[in-house]
Amino acid sequence: AIAGVAYIGYGIYEDRHPEPQTEPDPTKKTLVILGTGWGSVSLLKRLDTENYNVIVISPRNYFLFTPLLPSCTTGTIEHRSIMEPIRTILRSKKASVRFYEAEASSIDPDRKVVRIFDNSEVKGDMTETEVPYDMLVVGVGAENATFGIPGVREHSCFLKEIGDAQRIRKRIMDCVETAAFKDQSPEEIDRLMHMVVVGGGPTGVEFAGELQDFFEEDIKKLVPEISDRFRVTLIEALPNVLPSFSKQLIEYTESTFKEEKINIHTKTMVKKVTDKTVEAVATRPDGTKETIVFPYGLLVWATGNAVRPVVQDLMQRIPAQKNSRRGLAVNEYLVVQGARDIWAVGDCAVAGYAPTAQVASQEGNFLARLFNNMARTEALENKIAELSGSLNLQPGNTAEISREIEEYERQLRRIKDVKPFHYSHQGSLAYIGSEKAVADVTWFNGNVAAAGGLTYLFWRSAYISMCFSTRNRLLVINDWLKSKLFGRDLSR
Ligand code: NAD
Repeated sequence: AIAGVAYIGYGIYEDRHPEPQTEPDPTKKTLVILGTGWGSVSLLKRLDTENYNVIVISPRNYFLFTPLLPSCTTGTIEHRSIMEPIRTILRSKKASVRFYEAEASSIDPDRKVVRIFDNSEVKGDMTETEVPYDMLVVGVGAENATFGIPGVREHSCFLKEIGDAQRIRKRIMDCVETAAFKDQSPEEIDRLMHMVVVGGGPTGVEFAGELQDFFEEDIKKLVPEISDRFRVTLIEALPNVLPSFSKQLIEYTESTFKEEKINIHTKTMVKKVTDKTVEAVATRPDGTKETIVFPYGLLVWATGNAVRPVVQDLMQRIPAQKNSRRGLAVNEYLVVQGARDIWAVGDCAVAGYAPTAQVASQEGNFLARLFNNMARTEALENKIAELSGSLNLQPGNTAEISREIEEYERQLRRIKDVKPFHYSHQGSLAYIGSEKAVADVTWFNGNVAAAGGLTYLFWRSAYISMCFSTRNRLLVINDWLKSKLFGRDLSR
């Protein structure tokens, strides 16, 4: 068995780059990639790094498999199972890639430099510096939208990064343990046991489902004294949850939530948040408005994306970006409109698609193909120029050299024609709790809507196959088995 494990380990690591990081090659262009999310990492995965001096900059030194992030909030999955260190990813590249753990604070498209700062706790001498680029890919994602609603930033938990999931997990157990504390008043127990989720998009829905599972399968058994007080409320401003899914899946989700005893308040817009309450305005069926105050123990805010300051700053520096609101407007080759040598991928780019992991990863793959192609084109053009020059110097070999030039030109014509980026939608999946999932999948050019237990198995296998590495896959399967066999870990 040990030999078997050793063999698997060998198989996974054998193709790693053995050389330490080298100095940049002055004959190659410097390609700077900002971010380590879906867009940037998909680009890195397929990029032939031998063609450029590649530098990756991100405040996060790992890739995060975000589709399983809601499962980390309840401990169904442990957070490290869905993280993959960027240095492990870079080590398997053919030519070495430099990584700086830093945040980009501004981009100067005229001087072609990125200003970065190190936000670590053990700062060295250098905390802020500039990195020049020849080509730049902006894949910094987005931040959480709060729409300037008072109290949101101070009092709610978001669900975007691994730290958010850990904060939520601690907070759930803090609420449970405090509610179970000696001599709590019934009102206080009700408040602490009320978990409020704002935003009925896939993030809010998946989190609400995971939370209800956690309660039903574990908390109820281990802390029975507060079990009849636990409530989950989902607040959504639009008339229904999961607006991007088909009508029958919306209905299925809403009726499953009813069975799971998750309260849905649609047509209800949150206006204010305090440390213990959420204030919302609901529109009644007759069109009149009503203000509702929800006391809460945990508040999770999942109302979608907003543009990051570094992207806003870049947009202000480029006149052609003036009318873009949701991020960097890009053309069909993902080039930032109005800028030279800057591309954008993922949630910070506006290419006409929803801000999803699927779009970002296809954009990253496309840029890798484009950049590999650009390098090959340049190499072939140089060869042709070199051979054309030698035609005059070596009159005897003209026929042979001309044949060679023709062959290179043929190759050039073949690869030069890169088709514009086209997104191919594979479908949408969401877990809705009690081992049920909903799926809108594209099947032989048609749309298939599926829901229920079998869809849940499909959801599981799809996410397992999409995990970044074999290591991640094994860890996630192990976590699922562990929480099934022994229950989730309630320690705070
Ligand atoms: P979202 O933008 O999809 O949904 C946010 C919801 O919050 C909207 O329905 C909006 O009406 C509501 N809202 C906004 N302000 C509100 C307020 N003040 N009060 C009440 N409700 C309010 O956000 P998301 O769920 O974080 O998803 C972001 C993107 O990521 C989307 O494109 C989504 O499709 C994608 N995503 C997909 C999956 C999946 O496919 N499983 C999972 C997570 C995210």
